[in-house]
Amino acid sequence: MSTLNRELTEEQLNQLSLEVKEYAACHGLVMYNRASQLNHAPITLLPTPIPRSSYEKVWDFAPELNVLVHRVSLDHEFLLKHLEGVVEDEFTASLIDIYKKVLEKGIKQKITLGIHRSDYMLHAVDKEEPLLKQVELNTIAASFSNLSCIRADLQRYVLSTQNIQGYSPENVPDNSAREELPASLALAVQLHGAKQGVVVMVVHPNEVNAFDQRWLEYHLWDKHGVRMLRRSLLDFHERSVVDESGRLTIDGHAVSVVYFRAAYTPDDFPTEKEWKGRLIIEESDAIKCPNIAYHLVGTKKIQQVLAVPGVLEKFVSEDTARDLRLLFVGLYSLDEKDESLSQTLQKARENPHDYVLKPQREGGGNNIYGEDIVKSLDTFSAKKLSSFILMDRIRVPEVQTYLMREEKISKVEGVAELGIFSVFVSDAEDKVVYNKAAGFLLRTKVAKVEDGGVAAGVAVLDCPYLV
Ligand code: ADP
Ligand code: MG
Ligand code: MG
Repeated sequence: MSTLNRELTEEQLNQLSLEVKEYAACHGLVMYNRASQLNHAPITLLPTPIPRSSYEKVWDFAPELNVLVHRVSLDHEFLLKHLEGVVEDEFTASLIDIYKKVLEKGIKQKITLGIHRSDYMLHAVDKEEPLLKQVELNTIAASFSNLSCIRADLQRYVLSTQNIQGYSPENVPDNSAREELPASLALAVQLHGAKQGVVVMVVHPNEVNAFDQRWLEYHLWDKHGVRMLRRSLLDFHERSVVDESGRLTIDGHAVSVVYFRAAYTPDDFPTEKEWKGRLIIEESDAIKCPNIAYHLVGTKKIQQVLAVPGVLEKFVSEDTARDLRLLFVGLYSLDEKDESLSQTLQKARENPHDYVLKPQREGGGNNIYGEDIVKSLDTFSAKKLSSFILMDRIRVPEVQTYLMREEKISKVEGVAELGIFSVFVSDAEDKVVYNKAAGFLLRTKVAKVEDGGVAAGVAVLDCPYLV
């Protein structure tokens, strides 16, 4: 890493910004800003070094995580028992209500499709080489698979054609997300079997990241001849029909797969109508990505419960459990009934900067850090606190880099977060028919900003450089 140049000259910066701008325009590496103007996606001008061995390890673990999610999703008792304490969180409580309703009526569709992204950050302890540790596992609306592929293509192109001392394009890993996500969706459509069945992507209005989603739509069409529609939860409430055998149609199209790129935050449910739309989908025989159980497995609470000694072993072999646990940092229950609660609270009060306080939320910008943790512990009721978890703070080594946002460049100390996509399909007999690691996303944010993703306007698209 010491031989990699992290300083760019004025001339290099000018050249690179032109390369980014024009490559992005030609290849669809674009996003909307908040004012709905089209722009190149926010990006770093240099890739970020990631230790190869750690990268390969988390890559290899992706299929094991898929199996873990699947097995936990089938254990209804386990899920309901461990989520009981977080129902003070109204949003999660509503998801659990849907889950209970479909369990009562009987699950109409056994085929499952998982498109997950497990996120990691390098954790530097003492002087040892930093290792990737899991931040969280996203089972719903894992985004940026396509823009991330184009970002990696751009990186290889730039490193091949521009003279940036110390870098070689071969160290940028292959990103298979462009192929794998559509392949898993197409397989699910085929297994579902509806004549001319479509995939419906559930989207929210004014999506800034619409182009990443559009790429998925186009690849699915170009490679597999499968159509993808974009609809909102409200559209489902107003215009979808489920017949007596559970078949779902919307605007006359038979729906084979419902793929959620919305419905993961309370903002996506402004009224009861959206909740009704969500329930219609879950009660139908369409394959859901994710189904409600997969969604719940992705909660921070379940992440914490799985890290309790002995729990992973219920779902995977002892060897796998031991290896998976090496990816975790400390995760602590804040449930009012937890035996070690007072110890946990004391640790958090004494060293709040060593922890992150996390609610059951997705999409970035929801966590609590530092002195605000102490304030929260002082003011939250025991019930409210039960719906949070506490996590060891990951100590990410800072790397100097250049961010480019709407054509403006800034030189910053950045921290990177690596996401590994994975895809999983099991059939109606619960046999695993597809299970793979499926590409990567690297995001970088300014080190002193604590939270937030690319769509939230905090992080930018980066690219791993394996060292
Ligand atoms: P979300 O589902 O909202 O994305 P995350 O768990 O990914 O929730 O947290 C959001 C962001 O907060 C992450 O992208 C990361 O930047 C930061 N973060 C989360 N957990 C930790 C941690 N344990 N240590 C340091 N930073 C963290
Ligand atoms: Mg998340
Ligand atoms: Mg996250």
